[in-house]
Amino acid sequence: MTTAELRAADREVLWHPFTQQQGWQAEDAPIIERGEGCTLYDTDGNAYLDGVSSLWCTVHGHRHPAIDAAVRAQLDRVAHTTMLGLSHPPAIELARRLLAVAPRGDRELTRVFYSDNGSTANEIALKMAFQWHKLRGDEARTRFVYLDMSYHGDTVGSVSVGGIDLFHTLFRPLLFDGLRAAAGDAADLERILRAHGDEVAAVIVEPLVQGAAGILLQPEGYLRAVRELCDRFGVLMIVDEVATGFGRTGTMFACEHEGVVPDLMSVAKGLTGGYLPLAATLATERVYEGFLGEFHEFRTFFHGHTYTGNPLACAAAIASLDVFEDEGTLAALAPKIDLLAELLAEHVAPLASVAAIRRLGFMAGIELTEFALQDRMGHRVTLAARRRGAIVRPLGDVVVLMPPLSMSPRELTRLVTITAAAIAEATGVPA
Ligand code: PLP
Repeated sequence: MTTAELRAADREVLWHPFTQQQGWQAEDAPIIERGEGCTLYDTDGNAYLDGVSSLWCTVHGHRHPAIDAAVRAQLDRVAHTTMLGLSHPPAIELARRLLAVAPRGDRELTRVFYSDNGSTANEIALKMAFQWHKLRGDEARTRFVYLDMSYHGDTVGSVSVGGIDLFHTLFRPLLFDGLRAAAGDAADLERILRAHGDEVAAVIVEPLVQGAAGILLQPEGYLRAVRELCDRFGVLMIVDEVATGFGRTGTMFACEHEGVVPDLMSVAKGLTGGYLPLAATLATERVYEGFLGEFHEFRTFFHGHTYTGNPLACAAAIASLDVFEDEGTLAALAPKIDLLAELLAEHVAPLASVAAIRRLGFMAGIELTEFALQDRMGHRVTLAARRRGAIVRPLGDVVVLMPPLSMSPRELTRLVTITAAAIAEATGVPA
């Protein structure tokens, strides 16, 4: 099929995620045929720097030889088997490897429960926390505290703890009741826990940075304060490392910046190097032990999916962790984080249409000055960037950069200069 035929067929049969379909019908979006390193190629042979790691997940770029080989090798063994009543080597090895790199401190994550996307990993953590209290005889702890502007996914349970009104308010009648705390404000969380602590099963937070809110940064010490408050009020702490995990903030997990170990931690996105859908909820032994009992007690955790712990995805994830070790990904990242900060300060900050730059590690949000909603300025910036050969994504009028950790200094420079030029062109406001 030609590109034109593919576009026509796409418009006829597809319904894209998070997309106003009426507008989509008028767009000539690239149709991506292949990827190599940090570059994507469309069906017309145009090359684009992948400035957002697909959807914040391809941490080592595309077609990494070691991950390709691991998936192929697993394909020669078995592509899928259930984990109900069976187990398989990649699931076992990956769990051990994940626990070995998980944050450590005053407690330890010792158990891995698989699923296949970030939303379900969070939903599992919520259900585990709820059931854990119930099994302890604490029937009153049925509510969850979440942060304003938080994003934990799109399934009904994860939407229930979502604080982005545009995505979440519409669905309120379907959702369970939560308690919303001001983002990054430990005093507000304490106020809520003082008033409702006995009803709360868990607090769920994105650590240090709230990605989907537009890369909002929490004040230093906030995550540690959440940990202390959770312990003080007998509440479990769920940390959602779906976006921040696997090196994105410069450490393997964002929790490490504050020496915090949660009771439950969800990971997805970068887990398989962005290759295949896989997620995991990590739990402490204390949480796990709550689910042990005699058969007739039914302390089973009632949850599981057809593709829970898919072997191909686990093999990709093991290979991705190997790449972190073999290539010293995190050590190589540190100077590139400094470079990204310098490039943003040099090329983007001076633009008159840039209101703020928020960044942690390789997560950056460039907030534009105020434009009318119908201008769709964030979107127009991404179109201008695309014409110049880079893929970036807007969150409203915040332009997000989330490069693969493997991006070279030269590519990083190109990505930032293209983004600056695209902002100047689209907004019509040069430096
Ligand atoms: N949690 C956070 C912090 C996220 O950023 C996302 C996705 O962007 C999710 C959860 C949902 O993950 P998924 O899209 O894999 O369901």
